[in-house]
Amino acid sequence: MFWDKEKETLDRKQIEELQSERLREVVARAVKSEFYSKKFKECGVDPGSIRGLQDLAKLPFTAKQDLRDHFPFGFLTVDRKQIVRLHASSGTTGKSTAVLYTRSDLDNWTEMLARCLTMSGVTADDVFQNMTGYGMFTGGLGMHYGAERVGALAIPMGAGNTKWQIANMKAYGTTVFHATPSYALHLCEEIAAEGIDPRKDLKLRIGLLGAEPYSEGTRKKVQDALGIDVFNSFGLSEMNGPGVAFECEEKNGMHLWEDHYILELLNPATLEPVAEGEKGEMVMTTLTREGMPLIRYRTRDLTSVLPGECPCGRHHRRIARITGRSDDMMIIKGVNVFPSQIEDVLMAMPEVGCNYQIELMRKEGADHIVVNVEVGETFFKGDITDLNKLQRKIQERLREETLVKPEVRLLEPNALPRSMGKAVRVVDKREL
Ligand code: AMP
Ligand code: ZN
Repeated sequence: MFWDKEKETLDRKQIEELQSERLREVVARAVKSEFYSKKFKECGVDPGSIRGLQDLAKLPFTAKQDLRDHFPFGFLTVDRKQIVRLHASSGTTGKSTAVLYTRSDLDNWTEMLARCLTMSGVTADDVFQNMTGYGMFTGGLGMHYGAERVGALAIPMGAGNTKWQIANMKAYGTTVFHATPSYALHLCEEIAAEGIDPRKDLKLRIGLLGAEPYSEGTRKKVQDALGIDVFNSFGLSEMNGPGVAFECEEKNGMHLWEDHYILELLNPATLEPVAEGEKGEMVMTTLTREGMPLIRYRTRDLTSVLPGECPCGRHHRRIARITGRSDDMMIIKGVNVFPSQIEDVLMAMPEVGCNYQIELMRKEGADHIVVNVEVGETFFKGDITDLNKLQRKIQERLREETLVKPEVRLLEPNALPRSMGKAVRVVDKREL
């Protein structure tokens, strides 16, 4: 199903022509901002010389630090009066970064979300419960307006309050929910703990999960526990928020809306394009943003582009699951390890429950990694021989996957703190 069939089925040539045309416009617009007028001068870029995609590599990169340094209005290209909304990135460290939207920016964003929701099967018949925060985080209001635009009944629950979430699911016959994957796992536990059979007692059919990395194993856990289809949702505040890329009914990679963004995948060290199909850092350029265009923004997110055409008929390229961020890579005894590798191993094991946490510390001068793992409710019988076997099995699988042998600590179900939004998966105690 399409929301905007014409734009969603543009062929590659049409997409690239549109990108070239819009790139010229966005460069001409960006130079009106304090940041880019200076940056272009410094880098010797004449905005008029940018003819299209072929000149993209001549443009300078934009980093998160630039947004911090020019907080809050240094990227504005319109009068402040034209800005009608502000969001902020969820980063908990460092200075804030603000994202500013004009009316037209909000409209484009909502249209992209309407495409995403329709693509995953959401319609005006649905009751849409939004379980992400409604404050500065883009997942609340962003998704909300997308759901309203497709005509669904949108319930602005916000994050947390799980018992109330469940009560409302029952009361209003919720069919679709949006949450972070870590919160969705928690929701599954609570539903089970309340003795609710989701297939009989609830009307849920779709879960939209995003805002943090998760594995196919997690998707399967949530799908099986609730009897629903789960779709992956990707976005970042700097590129509006959710709705940048989303899975279609094929559930095989997320189509990224290339009429609104240019995607480059670059090697984070050399900043050269990676070979086709290889993993690289997503570097993105906004094509239609009025208030605050961003050029070659280094997202730090790592992914690859899936080869071939999607059977759904959309030619917007598909990105694979985000495997992590170039800045959340852990270096343990000199070996590069991504938290997503650990999640892949753990969530593929039926004995493992819904939660885990990684601790990094120093032991006798060397890096030491501890993986705290909750054992699944059904497996947790307290039999020490079983638990010892399981502990060794997890340790061995993690070693095979990451080449580092971690200490594995098994915990009872519910031992670790639950997150209502994005989970804290890595606690680095090495600097302390
Ligand atoms: P924020 O701007 O606070 O919403 O955070 C955006 C970041 O969340 C992205 O840059 C990614 O690192 C992460 N993220 C969002 N959606 C996903 C997803 N579906 N899979 C993995 N990571 C995601
Ligand atoms: Zn598709």
